[in-house]
Amino acid sequence: MIPFRTALGAVLRLRCPNCSQGNLFTDPNLLHLKNLDKMPHTCPHCGQDFKVEPEFYFGAMFISYILVAFIMFFIMGIDILLSGYLYLNELFLYLGIIALGYPYWFRVSRAIWLFIYVRWVQPNKNY
Ligand SMILES: [Zn+2]
Repeated sequence: MIPFRTALGAVLRLRCPNCSQGNLFTDPNLLHLKNLDKMPHTCPHCGQDFKVEPEFYFGAMFISYILVAFIMFFIMGIDILLSGYLYLNELFLYLGIIALGYPYWFRVSRAIWLFIYVRWVQPNKNY
């Protein structure tokens, strides 16, 4: 098993959390929204199962919510700390940043969910 920090970097680069080499998604381009959720069944490099069970990535929805809420509170917190106030147009700017980053948040949430499974839940790690 690869070190924790390497695996975390692999998650941020949308790579396999088991080997950090194979792509998690068949189409790496984030602008191709039609293929946003298309993933291979197994890792092309190490054979890690990406389709663990039906509806496995349902839990990634909660990761996505936590991630986006954390980013928004972090950005708005920094803004309020520096300027003392959050203006309405700044709020719309931050919401726009979150909306534009949607493809990445969607995919990285799936990667984090799979990372949690591979790291702590997966019963036999004989890859
Ligand atoms: Zn792999």
